[in-house]
Amino acid sequence: MDAPLSITTIMSHAEMIAAENKLISRGANGDITRLTYHDAFVRVAKLANALDRLELAPEARVGTLAWNDHRHFELHYAVPCTGRICHTINPKLFTDQVKFIINDAQNEALFIDPEFIPVIEAMQGDLPSVKHWIALCSANNLPQSTLPNLQAYESLLNREQDSYDWPTLDENRASNLCYTSGTTGDPKGVLGSHRSIVLQCMSQNMASQLGLTSEDVVMPLVPMFHVNAWCMPYSAPMAGAALVMPGPQVSDAQAMTDLINQEQVTFSLAVPTLWSGINQFLNATGTRVPSLNRGVIGGAAGALKLYDEMDRHGVRLENGWGMTELSPIGSYNRYLPEHNRLPDAARADQRLKSGRPLFGIQMRIVDEDGNALPHDGVTTGVLEIRGPWACSAYYGKSREHDWFNTGDVATIDSLGYMRITDRVKDVIKSGGEWISSIEIENAIMAHPGVREAVVIGVAHQHWSERPLLVVVPEDSYPSLTPEQLLSFLEGKIPKWWIPNACEFVDTLPHTATGKVSKKMLRENFNRYQWA
Ligand code: ADP
Repeated sequence: MDAPLSITTIMSHAEMIAAENKLISRGANGDITRLTYHDAFVRVAKLANALDRLELAPEARVGTLAWNDHRHFELHYAVPCTGRICHTINPKLFTDQVKFIINDAQNEALFIDPEFIPVIEAMQGDLPSVKHWIALCSANNLPQSTLPNLQAYESLLNREQDSYDWPTLDENRASNLCYTSGTTGDPKGVLGSHRSIVLQCMSQNMASQLGLTSEDVVMPLVPMFHVNAWCMPYSAPMAGAALVMPGPQVSDAQAMTDLINQEQVTFSLAVPTLWSGINQFLNATGTRVPSLNRGVIGGAAGALKLYDEMDRHGVRLENGWGMTELSPIGSYNRYLPEHNRLPDAARADQRLKSGRPLFGIQMRIVDEDGNALPHDGVTTGVLEIRGPWACSAYYGKSREHDWFNTGDVATIDSLGYMRITDRVKDVIKSGGEWISSIEIENAIMAHPGVREAVVIGVAHQHWSERPLLVVVPEDSYPSLTPEQLLSFLEGKIPKWWIPNACEFVDTLPHTATGKVSKKMLRENFNRYQWA
């Protein structure tokens, strides 16, 4: 039958198989909202009626600046299922970038968490396309604001009927919009369609990928403004899994472990920095998280030490690779039977790979002239991908290539496992040869005195660039020296990769999505003088 793959079908499916399963949401004050999927979808219908009453255009871009909570979940359904485009905006970006994004997308309405209202007030005169401003709160909590006619979300919903005649949508209709963080140049828009989202979620839910089931309680720590929390608001209900939305305090490891234990969370997803915070909290306090048995670590490379220590806490972390342009997951690391029989060191090495492509994604590595390179696990090249949920062109730009250049440098082995060795823009080129900063970082993270470590390229008179190791030491190692760390690397990586120097810092700069920002670190060290 000609039945479209639409987000509406995820909603009707979840209503059929998981209506009474829970959708829990933690607010800024730690207050908990308990809904079932059925309750949430009734509110989604009211919101859909409210969007029509606001007379938003049939393909309006509806912007959100919000944390992971039930209201943001509702927007993820009401907006696309009425045919409009749910545009998640990262409120942590620089003001100029947020302004650029809203104007580029021509948002007609903005749904804003009260915390982010000052961000928007500061630029309100420069946002001509925005006609409606809605605060994601109840009428009682509506803040004083200079935004014209600011309305409370709950007041909008209260006026509306709790059913909606959902249209049958073309599966290729645009549904979700998300901008890359613009580390180089202006942010670029990536538009997803109903079809691309449904296919990404179906592929994620295969057993040898994330494989969510109706027994899971899923808590995405990765924000919904970072590629829809890696699609969890869609994949979890599709699988009939419960959802726990952690709200703003995702960096508060105690609050998050309390929530995990209270709601019996089985599966979570986060960038390495957040997993690291949870790991340190569990190590320091002896707190246990017995229900949590698996999690995705992605968005940046995680260190082996983190995987190992989380194993000891009973949480198996799995490496998932992706990007905004892939909405977002492209590959995922699950073992083959023989990997379980490997010696420890070889198994550990296997674990750090970014895994094999999800069904639907093709991958290859190419040289500087675009020639395909062998999948031998050794040759590095620029990673290119194709597939039904890969971005064919940026929003508003014309289509460019059949293969999408990810900007990542990788190897692919004969079994199809891909390993990210760097981003093109982070690559260190010493005397014409590439050095993998990620492999050096992994090797140094094995030292117990290292809390966080990053390797960046710094200009060098003779070699053009040499690696510099920047470390946040553990407080419990006050007498640790840079020389000790550099000699620790000997024998673990090729001799010529060993950084020329090591600097200690108190903290590392992070991006708006919680990843270590090598760009900012390079700026901090751009006048660095080699000894
Ligand atoms: P940005 O980091 O620019 O905000 P994305 O979230 O789209 O935007 O980042 C995608 C990039 O993150 C990838 O191209 C890759 O460099 C990096 N990345 C994502 N997942 C992993 C992973 N599992 N291991 C290493 N790097 C990763």
